[in-house]
Order: sequence, then structure tokens, then C-alpha cells
Amino acid sequence: MTSDKGELIRLSKSSISDLEKDAVLGVLDREFLGMGAEVVAFEAALELFFGRPVACVVNGTAALHLALQACGIGPGDEVLVPSLTYIASFQAISATGAKPVACDIDPLGCILDIRDAEKRMTNRTKAIMPVHYTGGVGDLAGIYKFAEENGLRVIEDAAHAFGTLYNDVRVGSFGDVACFSFDGIKNITSGEGGCIVCDDLQVLQKIRDARLLGVQNDTEKRAAGERSWSFGVGAQGWRYHMSNIMAAIGIEQLKRFPDLAARRRELARVYDQKFADHAVIRTLPRDYDHVVPHIYVVRIKNLVSRVDLQEKLLALGIQSGVHYQPNHTNQYYLDESAAPLNVTTRIYPELLTLPLHPDLSDDDVVRVSSELMRLLA
Ligand SMILES: *Cc1c(COP(=O)(O)O)cnc(C)c1O
Repeated sequence: MTSDKGELIRLSKSSISDLEKDAVLGVLDREFLGMGAEVVAFEAALELFFGRPVACVVNGTAALHLALQACGIGPGDEVLVPSLTYIASFQAISATGAKPVACDIDPLGCILDIRDAEKRMTNRTKAIMPVHYTGGVGDLAGIYKFAEENGLRVIEDAAHAFGTLYNDVRVGSFGDVACFSFDGIKNITSGEGGCIVCDDLQVLQKIRDARLLGVQNDTEKRAAGERSWSFGVGAQGWRYHMSNIMAAIGIEQLKRFPDLAARRRELARVYDQKFADHAVIRTLPRDYDHVVPHIYVVRIKNLVSRVDLQEKLLALGIQSGVHYQPNHTNQYYLDESAAPLNVTTRIYPELLTLPLHPDLSDDDVVRVSSELMRLLA
């Protein structure tokens, strides 16, 4: 599918084929919409993909929330997290009662700066949440080393990085706990949805119970086509499970993933090539042999008005975005006593996200890059 002349080039969108539509109709025909066979099958497919146990949940934010809770993070605890992330990372942390401690990023990759995080450690720091911004992971080994030295859990916000390889293995297939999102525009979607990948079976069992209101072993009962009528509840739970409708979409998207990923990579490479050596447009250093990009972000030096630039692009039929307003500037997370986040503050006004989704044509991407360069000339 290509966008015809005059049609809006969307920043992002779901890529849906007849496979997903038929799968959803199948679930509707069988009239079992809740958590059942399709969720079991989607989890099994994801376990093959990652080579590790997986629990599916209602969205990526819930995945982060449950992962933190299952790792024992709660009131009085602090979690190191880059300020430059979706508000979901911060909300998931504060939902547990813990405090998100906003950290700075490295100026090139825009990924958590471990030296800055180290300065913000206190004796209340319990975990670190690296965010795989745009799909890149940076020095993940360095983060794990840092966490090990300081006795921290690592909850990876891998919402952008489904399919990304690190040292030739998939993000999520190693490490502590990785959380993914399957919202409508992520690398694969299940409508809404998310999952936790983790080989700590105690943590995973807590997550499985907590996604079904804390009812112990309800996951196992449902997988066997049963359910609990009288039950033990050992911890605070939530209504965070995935439905069969969502899982049916996810199963088909996972089958299509090799094509979807290849397309995202090809388009990001076209952008990279167009902007190579440009005077004011800086690309993020991402190796698309390894990274599956969720979004395509550039930095624009000396940008006077991003709003103005975005309006001009939109007038040309090109949507653009900003990922993200730094969370430490949000009133709910303001911390007057925190050291300034110099890199984040300097870089944020330069960030612009350009259209990237699997149904864009190469020509679309060429047009977006040409128009952007023309507007900046
Ligand atoms: C999408 C996203 C999430 C949350 O996922 P939802 O499925 O939307 O709840 C968390 N973190 C980041 C960085 C994301 O992009």
C-alpha cells in the first residue's frame, strides 16, 4: 500500500492485513472473547520467539507496572529512569508507590547515561529502567554491570525494541525483566497489549496472578478451560490480562513480523542516507542490521520553532511528532532538589519524529526528507 499523491503521510499507523481481520472474526464466531486459547497460543509463540517464559497483559504500561510490583518495588523505593521516555514509564513506577528518579541521556544515542544515573543513586534505589529509545539499546551490558554492582533489578522498557538484536540475540531473550508494548503503532500490535519476558519464575508467577486480580493460579485454570469459583488472593492484583481478540491479532502480527521489521529497517536506512552529512539534521546512530526501529527521530540543530516547522510539514501533508516531553518537566514529577538534566534539556527542543510505518513507500520517505531539507535550507 502506498499513499497516493495528496494523501496524508501519517506519522505512524497500524499495518493490518486480512490475516488479522480473519483471526478476529474467528474469535468472535467462537464467542469466547476473554482470556483463553488465543492468549495461551500467543504466549507460546512469543516464548518460541524469545526462548524465555512470557506473560501477556493488557498493555505495555501494565507490563511495566506488574514487573515492578513483582520485583518488590513499592513505597519508599526509587527507580532510575531516563526523563526522555513516554509518560507510561514514569506512571508505571509511581503506580507502585515508588519514586521515578529522572536521569539524563547521552547526547548521541539519546539513551540513559549510566554515569548520570550513578550520581542519582541513593540507599533507596532498588531498580533501573533503561528505555530502548526508538529501538536502540545503547550499552546494555554496561547497564547490567552497573545494576549488578549496585544490587539493582533491571526492568527494561523495551516498548520500542521488539525484535531488536543486541550482541546478535533478541532484546528480552537475556537479562532480568523486559517489557514490551503491542499498542496499535508498535513494531507488532495486538490492538492494545503488552508482555513481560523473564526467566525468574517466581517473578513471572506473581505477574500471572497479579494480572488476574491477584487470584492465585487462575492463569493455569483458565488455560485448562476452567476458572476459579473460590480463590486465594495473596497480593494486590489488577485486571490486566489480555483478551482472545487481542491475542488473535498478535499471533498474526508475529507471523508477519519478519516482513514488518524488514520494511521498518529499509525505510529508516533511506532516511539515514538522505540526511547523511546534512548541515543541521543529525540522525541517531542506529545500526539497522540489529535495530528494528519503532520511530525515526532526528535532531535539528539551531531549530528556532519546532511548532512552526511541524505546521509547515503538515501543510504539505506530512505528519510529524515529538518523542518525548521530558518527564521531569511534568508538574507531577517535578523535583526541585534534583540536579539539572543538562543533556535532556539541551536536546529536547531539537527532536523531531518523522513518519515511519511499514506501509510507507520509499518514495514517501524520500518526499518527507526532501521537504524537510527544503524547509530547513
Ligand atoms: C508504548 C510505550 C509504553 C507503554 O505501552 P502501552 O502499550 O501504550 O501502555 C511504555 N514505554 C514506552 C517508551 C512506549 O513507547
